[in-house]
Amino acid sequence: MEYEPVKIGLPRALLYARCRVLWRAFFQELGVDTVTSPPTDREILERGSALAIDEACLSLKIYLGHVQALLGACDYILVPRVSSFGRHRSMCTRFESTPDLVRSVFRGSDQQFLSYDVDEEMEGKSEEAAFLELGRALGRPPKAVKKAYKAAKKAELGHHRERVRRQEQLLKREGLKVLLAAHSYVAEDASMGRTVTDYLKKAGVIPLRADLVDRDAALKRSKELSPTCKWEISREILGGIALLRDQVDGIILLSAFPCGPDAMVNELITRRVKGVPILNLVMDAQSGTAGVETRLESFIDIIRFQRGEL
Ligand code: SF4
Repeated sequence: MEYEPVKIGLPRALLYARCRVLWRAFFQELGVDTVTSPPTDREILERGSALAIDEACLSLKIYLGHVQALLGACDYILVPRVSSFGRHRSMCTRFESTPDLVRSVFRGSDQQFLSYDVDEEMEGKSEEAAFLELGRALGRPPKAVKKAYKAAKKAELGHHRERVRRQEQLLKREGLKVLLAAHSYVAEDASMGRTVTDYLKKAGVIPLRADLVDRDAALKRSKELSPTCKWEISREILGGIALLRDQVDGIILLSAFPCGPDAMVNELITRRVKGVPILNLVMDAQSGTAGVETRLESFIDIIRFQRGEL
């Protein structure tokens, strides 16, 4: 059956880092085109900051900049609402309000937005049910949507497993290893985590990521550091630290200012993870690369000094 051509815009921020393979594979299976905003640059950061209230976290400001970059470039921009994956498996509240916020911020434009809603804890609404609705909203038959979701989940799992496998190879390499503990959208953003990992690589350090581990194993191991943490992504990061702490020389806790969950969880990590140097790095819209690099340089010197290399 022939469908009207539709193009969906994917803002390269927030859930994009986690869901891009799922989204792209799902839309591709349904014959829907996608376009992605470019990597974060100064302009995206400044435009997003100007659109957000001052109290918004840097990740959200960047997200608004990416939405803005897609205005007029597609039929719909995908802005999901993801509240929870079950009991004690919540997302930060920012992910609940994003669709309403985006519609409000861009109410003056004629851009259309497309959303899906995942809330297992309060509404019993799974990701699969949300994608079935999303497919129906695009006018695709339920059978095709179900098939597309299954194929997209398989692609997503395969992609994550491959990244975990590559990281396991890095762990076997000789050299100084530093674990970056950050939300994947912070770790992968060109203006935040990439600045850190690029610097570490240049300094001859092997950067590893706490979020690139088996997610089920991480959720189980997270209890060693916090049996009560309710945020899904924070639990995965805690579990990633529990899984990898003995195999790394240092840990960098990287956050976007002002992040409520990270303020609490990073304090907990600093108190409970002993025997490995920890650097707490918080980035805001004004963080220049020079300041970040100076702190990273001192941190690496401390690690090298402790290893007797200086
Ligand atoms: S977890 Fe932190 S960085 Fe992420 S959206 Fe929430 S406040 Fe922002």
